[in-house]
Amino acid sequence: MEEGLKVPANLTRRTFVCGMGAVTIMGGLSLAGCSPSKTKSSDKGDAYDIVIIGSGGAGLSAAIAAFDKGASKIVVLEKMPSTGGNTNFSSSGMNASETKFQKEQGIDDSNALFAEETLTGGHDTGDAELVSFMCNGSAGAIDWLDGLGITLNNITLTGGMSVKRCHRPTDGSAVGKTLIAGLVEAVKERKIEVRTNCDAKELVVDGGTVTGVKVEEKGKQSTLSAKAVIMATGGLGANQEMVTKYRPDLKGYVTTNQAGATGDGYAMSEAAGAELVQMDQIQIHPTVEQESSQLIAEGIRGGGAILVNAEGKRFIDEMKTRDKVSAAELEQPGGFAWEVFDQTVYDSNKAVANYDKAGLVKKGDDLAALASTIGVDAAALKATVDEYNAVTTSGAADQMGRTKGCIAFSDGAMYAIKVAPGIHHEMGGVRINTKNEALSADGKTIPGLYAAGEVTGGIHGNNRIGGNAVCDIIVFGKNVGEVVADTLSK
Ligand SMILES: Cc1cc2nc3c(=O)[nH]c(=O)nc-3n(C[C@H](O)[C@H](O)[C@H](O)COP(=O)(O)OP(=O)(O)OC[C@H]3O[C@@H](n4cnc5c(N)ncnc54)[C@H](O)[C@@H]3O)c2cc1C
Repeated sequence: MEEGLKVPANLTRRTFVCGMGAVTIMGGLSLAGCSPSKTKSSDKGDAYDIVIIGSGGAGLSAAIAAFDKGASKIVVLEKMPSTGGNTNFSSSGMNASETKFQKEQGIDDSNALFAEETLTGGHDTGDAELVSFMCNGSAGAIDWLDGLGITLNNITLTGGMSVKRCHRPTDGSAVGKTLIAGLVEAVKERKIEVRTNCDAKELVVDGGTVTGVKVEEKGKQSTLSAKAVIMATGGLGANQEMVTKYRPDLKGYVTTNQAGATGDGYAMSEAAGAELVQMDQIQIHPTVEQESSQLIAEGIRGGGAILVNAEGKRFIDEMKTRDKVSAAELEQPGGFAWEVFDQTVYDSNKAVANYDKAGLVKKGDDLAALASTIGVDAAALKATVDEYNAVTTSGAADQMGRTKGCIAFSDGAMYAIKVAPGIHHEMGGVRINTKNEALSADGKTIPGLYAAGEVTGGIHGNNRIGGNAVCDIIVFGKNVGEVVADTLSK
């Protein structure tokens, strides 16, 4: 069983894992052309009102929201050469409830149900107050994005959700690139300064208050002073050392994360007095193509795909939560699965064409040909698909108990991608309240320090639902920008 987990050393990622093997540089904003919002501070560094560390969805949302609430002297720091972080690669979409797009499409949903399923999906180990805040703010976040020109009105289903609430771009493409392109554009329009290749090393703490950030930029070190620092550095998936510090059992797993996901924000916040919660809750995702570390979007299963083992047999309800699907997959011979789907699924998920271009998709002109290509017993695979089709067409009970996203396979071309679990998401992190204030172990705020996005912890509990991270980063990213702008205006 463990053999399926063994990863060739060259695939053990601390390298930049990107969408399709080629890195898409989004924005890469530089200082040039940005307004000189800063002033010189006494130590010859720069002085800002708000320093945001990290240019993913949370950091960029915070910058835009703070600006729109009247804040100025804002800077976004990014250690990588380009903006966007893991958000760039988010694929399936953004969960949200009671949205105008759901209503237009006749999808009946409620914030309470969204919250309930989020908490249940996390086995009731998430923070109910933060979850409610996220779900209640989700429709507003979808409207806010729409107002920025980022329209997410194509709605699908992810594992653990009973209602279609995963919002993605109109053409069904991966959410991340649309999101980051739109947020970067909004940042440019507002002339908010972004410093790429600017690595935040340490928070400056003066008498318990966070007053700035020490950075390294082109080999030079300086201190940026700030009235408020927003930590938005994302997760730790690309830092094997940190992953194994919290989860020794994950040694050697591939990761879906980009190279900048090194967990710096956890260490910096902790050193400034913040409590880190649930750090051992690192999510592995069940559908990662192991040669490329490419995440295969959950929306593909939501659109009808099934998982079969090396014997051509299904082994779980594919729409169960990630922890359950991953665990079941690891019990299969070789610890992997084939994600099998037909032409309809191929055509309705734009990401599949990209996987195909990258050589990840095996094809057969029919099911028997596919079975031969992937080395699975043709009769067994046919029996599996016949049984699945009977469920979807005649209403027969599914032996795996699947009730969501069951769509009959049509005849003709069939496809498969070989998948196994990979490190995907840190659900633990900096403890916050609904004002995004970083909290110490005794529940006190740390003046001047805020956090948003994957760097925060405790919201999702021990299993994050697909589509909930993007909801989290937009709702809390927007919120922290507004909270900080309000606080500074007083
Ligand atoms: C392949 C993939 C697919 C995913 N798909 C989905 C999905 O469909 N739906 C969903 O809800 N979630 C998805 N997720 C999870 C989700 O994308 C992330 O949790 C979320 O985007 C994190 O956003 P963030 O802004 O907190 O961090 P990020 O977007 O990772 O941004 C953090 C930024 O901070 C920078 N940084 C780090 N340290 C420093 C430092 N010291 N100084 C300066 N900069 C620093 C990083 O380089 C990075 O650019 C996916 C994740 C991956 C990897």
